[in-house]
Amino acid sequence: MYIRDIIKTFENKYPKSLAYNWDNIGLIVGDEMSRVAKILVTLEATQAVIDEAVENKVDLIITHHPFIFKGLKKINKSTTKGNDIYKLIKNNISLYSAHTNFDIAYDGLNDEIAKRLDLKDVLVLDTTYEQKLYKIAVYVPASHQECIRKAMTDMGCGNIGNYSDCSFTFDGVGRFKPLNDSNPYIGTKNEIETVKEVKIESICEESNLSQAINNIINAHPYEEVAYDIYELKNTGKKYGLGRIGELQNSMKFKELSVIVKQSLNIENLRVTGNLEDYVNKIAIVSGSGAEFMTKAHSMGADVLITGDVKYHDAQNALELGIKIIDAGHFGSENIFVDIVEQYLQNKFENIEILKSKSNINPFVTI
Ligand SMILES: [Zn+2]
Repeated sequence: MYIRDIIKTFENKYPKSLAYNWDNIGLIVGDEMSRVAKILVTLEATQAVIDEAVENKVDLIITHHPFIFKGLKKINKSTTKGNDIYKLIKNNISLYSAHTNFDIAYDGLNDEIAKRLDLKDVLVLDTTYEQKLYKIAVYVPASHQECIRKAMTDMGCGNIGNYSDCSFTFDGVGRFKPLNDSNPYIGTKNEIETVKEVKIESICEESNLSQAINNIINAHPYEEVAYDIYELKNTGKKYGLGRIGELQNSMKFKELSVIVKQSLNIENLRVTGNLEDYVNKIAIVSGSGAEFMTKAHSMGADVLITGDVKYHDAQNALELGIKIIDAGHFGSENIFVDIVEQYLQNKFENIEILKSKSNINPFVTI
């Protein structure tokens, strides 16, 4: 197994294209053609985490926060970052970061928090991107329809709401004349051939389109594959930062705060607003999301769960009438480690996935 294989699978779920332009994600250090047997997952790649990786003979570190964010002018042992990079390369450890793409993608940080709070009717809080939808129609001899359908659905074609593998087929007759330079699967050169074919139609998101067409061409028996791509006016899936949803049952703000603490496995958090009030609609922006409080309030949220809330943010929230739970940047994001560990372990049974023990919250409450 190569690092490249891990990245490909990971980016199918958490596409790089969803990240903000200012972000720095992907393989930050290392070689995608290196072999991988052991992965260490962490929120942050601190010096302690890199030592942990060296000690455990890890091949790949996966972080949420970009390991290199601003430009570096020197890589030498006299700076902390230089020393870290030196150590990684010397020990043949690669490092990959998934940041805003992981926040925005489905089943990323914000969805996981919504899931842990058992929220219903969960929507994107701040849409950054809406998928364009396409219809693919492909003509295939009846004998090969199953494998072509599989090639399409393997690449995510046919997803409509809570249904997958959706397609439609028509029976028909295909006609073609192989020319002199052809190498026909069916038929004879310079003679018109008629074949019982089916036309398979399925819907496809823009991000899967080129790979879906590649899959179809690879699985199709014909030398020249006849297919059509139509751009649709249907509304595609929305992607964006944060989530908003409703509790299964309204509860006191105090009760919700305790549940957030337990579900994120954190010892303490800060809140603004009356603890005795009942709350129902909850917005979530993991990490640092106080700037989304107006948006959350305008969408009807009673509470915004986030981190890194400053004094003036707290004051503004009180004025606005939205309650805030500040679970801390670390507190609201360290579940990254659980999500990635579970996702990769399900996909790659033979790879050992470690959750970092040395990446800890830099803040201590006394
Ligand atoms: Zn963060």
